[in-house]
Amino acid sequence: MSARCKWRMRWTGLILALGMLVSCAGPLRQGGTAPPSAGPTEEMAQPSLTLAPTSAPVMDRYQKDRQMMIESQIQGRGVKDEDVLRAMAKVPRHEFVPPEYLHEAYADHPLPIGYGQTISQPYIVAVMTELLRLRSTDKVLEIGTGSGYQAAILAEIVQEVYSVEIIEPLYLQAKERLERLGYKNIHLKCGDGYYGWEEHAPYDAIIVTCAPDHIPQPLVNQLADGGRMVIPVGPPGSYQVLWLVERQGDKIKTERIMGVAFVPLTRKH
Ligand code: SAH
Repeated sequence: MSARCKWRMRWTGLILALGMLVSCAGPLRQGGTAPPSAGPTEEMAQPSLTLAPTSAPVMDRYQKDRQMMIESQIQGRGVKDEDVLRAMAKVPRHEFVPPEYLHEAYADHPLPIGYGQTISQPYIVAVMTELLRLRSTDKVLEIGTGSGYQAAILAEIVQEVYSVEIIEPLYLQAKERLERLGYKNIHLKCGDGYYGWEEHAPYDAIIVTCAPDHIPQPLVNQLADGGRMVIPVGPPGSYQVLWLVERQGDKIKTERIMGVAFVPLTRKH
């Protein structure tokens, strides 16, 4: 074989190898939201992912952090509801925090989301969701959409989620985020959640993620017979008590669960 022919074969081999590398880059980038400065991703440690069909669950670089969060903060502290554990293992919490807090997305505390508001601590999200004893056919109302994280957890478990947020920019951000993540069973409204969302009542469950200083009567009225509500109640700027409220016909049963610290429920004047 001539020297020229050998060179041609080597070049062809090199071009083929480069072509294969480029075609692997698509699926490897599926996680999508990693900060550009980050090192090797979780996906890279799992080569089978590059060959997976597009319908395979999207693995992201926070998969391990999420699993650790479930084991140590949630299961480790006694949350047992399988649906809650499954939802929290699935929803990408890092998509719901501002970019400067990405590295703390799965940490054991609340995080700022702007406008003086916070995304709740993962454990509190889990406990409140478990207390609701949700079924797949339920319709749930949330007061205080914030980042939309709690709404996404609920939407993984129940049929329809309605959520009200009073701060318009947060409402708009959550709407964009939840649409981008593909949630079709979450319905958002900007307004004062003290009045609930009458139009879609009654609700099988209501979750309030900001603290009023008393239980709003409109929310009790919008609870279905047999329905459950979890709500932190206490004076603004202080600690509150988390209550479980259950409606049985005309009877309302309340149970004190634990001390919590939520941002206040504010009113539109
Ligand atoms: N559930 C949210 C965290 C909520 S923080 C999450 O998963 O990220 C509490 C939210 O309640 C804030 O966004 C705050 O703006 C909102 N809020 C306060 N008062 C409200 C009211 N009257 N009606 C609706 N939302 C209210």
